[in-house]
Amino acid sequence: MRFASIGSGSDGNGTLIANGSEGTVLLDCGFSGRETVARLQARGLSTDDLAGILVTHEHSDHIKGVARLANRYRLPVYTTWGTFSARLNGELDESLLNLIEPGTTFSLAGMQIEPVPVPHDAREPCQFVFATASARLGILTDAGSINRQMVTSYQGCDALMLECNHDLRMLAEGPYPAQLKRRVAGALGHLNNQQAADMLRQVGHDGLQHLIVTHISQTNNTPALAVQALLDARSATEGIIQVAGQKSGLDWCSISRKQNSAKPVPPRQLAIDFEI
Ligand SMILES: [Zn+2]
Ligand SMILES: [Zn+2]
Repeated sequence: MRFASIGSGSDGNGTLIANGSEGTVLLDCGFSGRETVARLQARGLSTDDLAGILVTHEHSDHIKGVARLANRYRLPVYTTWGTFSARLNGELDESLLNLIEPGTTFSLAGMQIEPVPVPHDAREPCQFVFATASARLGILTDAGSINRQMVTSYQGCDALMLECNHDLRMLAEGPYPAQLKRRVAGALGHLNNQQAADMLRQVGHDGLQHLIVTHISQTNNTPALAVQALLDARSATEGIIQVAGQKSGLDWCSISRKQNSAKPVPPRQLAIDFEI
């Protein structure tokens, strides 16, 4: 398995998850159709290479180009009923729609994909863990807080793309209006650097090959602050941290199962209680 970002941040998001010859999935499409095609090209892909588009939630930075791209290139779309009804209903050709259930793993491009429900101010938002027999990738952005179910789902990853949206002090002292500051920092907003570090602490980092800072605010954070917060949580992650940028995204990263560690991921504990 390998993955790349075509852009990450509040102006647009898109992540590519490729499972060899089985196919490639585009997670979110927050760019116009034309810009998405150009950004795919920059990663060596065309729309013909996509097995489908997965959508986390209906905010524009994740969904802006989904319907247009899907309709034009006949790409199946996978999302929750809440996300579909909030934004795609009436825009997306419904023959392309594949509804998914939060918490219910489904299969696409040879990967087992778990939609993890997250606290965020959208109708039915999910983030995702992608797994094959030899690799496990967790992608977590657009969550205002962390709960036990999230921690359980994201354990055992070989690679983690983790939202470090804002630095609390920069947000408090920055130019956003008070109401927006409250929204961003609220329990249904975005993960700050310390919350991301706390998530990393809780899921552990044994076997982590890539740790990617994502959805970083260009106004209320700096890559250096975000990286330092993660290093403070897990100094052993030095050397595996990269930042996915708004303009440049992130070049392809490959996940390789290390020799002697090809043991299957242990079954997840069932966690039904929430700590929001
Ligand atoms: Zn977002
Ligand atoms: Zn959002």
